[in-house]
Amino acid sequence: MIVGAALLVAAVGTATVGQAIAGDDDTRPAADRTPTVDGGYVVNTATLALASRDATKISRSATRPATVPVNKKDATTKAERRVLVRYNLLREAADNAEKFAKRLSSNQWVLPTTGFRFTAMFGVAGPYWASGYHTGIDFATAYGTPVVAVGNGTVVQTGWDGPYGNQIRVQLPNGDQVWYNHLSAIEVTPGTPVLKGQPLGRVGDTGNSYGYHLHLEYRLASDLSSAVDPVPYFRDHGLSIG
Ligand SMILES: [Zn+2]
Repeated sequence: MIVGAALLVAAVGTATVGQAIAGDDDTRPAADRTPTVDGGYVVNTATLALASRDATKISRSATRPATVPVNKKDATTKAERRVLVRYNLLREAADNAEKFAKRLSSNQWVLPTTGFRFTAMFGVAGPYWASGYHTGIDFATAYGTPVVAVGNGTVVQTGWDGPYGNQIRVQLPNGDQVWYNHLSAIEVTPGTPVLKGQPLGRVGDTGNSYGYHLHLEYRLASDLSSAVDPVPYFRDHGLSIG
């Protein structure tokens, strides 16, 4: 977000200059409009005056574009066209950076707990599990370690769930669910919206569990009755685990 904002400011600042140059309302003598190159950008005195005048245009609302589009045909000199090309490139870069920052901030997950080691990945066969194989990922860590939401969502269910012990189910925006199991404490209630990284509860050893760990499961909206391997979903959200 910071990168996007910085680029946006840079681009909008430049955009103001380009926009001012493109204006056809400059009645100054031609001598005052002679372009010079300053720090790689073409500027002139008229531009600076207009840039100052247009400074208020830097502020923006969510419903208005950051900048007013500038047509190349408005440029009357080679220097002006160069500024417009730079302006349009920077504007595009700023738009892309902002989109990327938004996507990253909404899409990137965080790890569900800290100080852990993986003790069982999804699909491992074993006699301990009712289904004959492991249906989630085990994050073994100290008793009481905070468990946080990996992504934004809404708490849909909390409480005791047999072999899962104390459990929290969080529904993601796409309808899929992440289940946090064997907790020693539950610190959220159903219906609560949660942000990624927000504490949900504490690592424990409740239910069919041996040793303090978080058993995390991923369940698809299309079939909440069975678990799927969480690893690809972590990867889709920027985290390579296991
Ligand atoms: Zn497990």
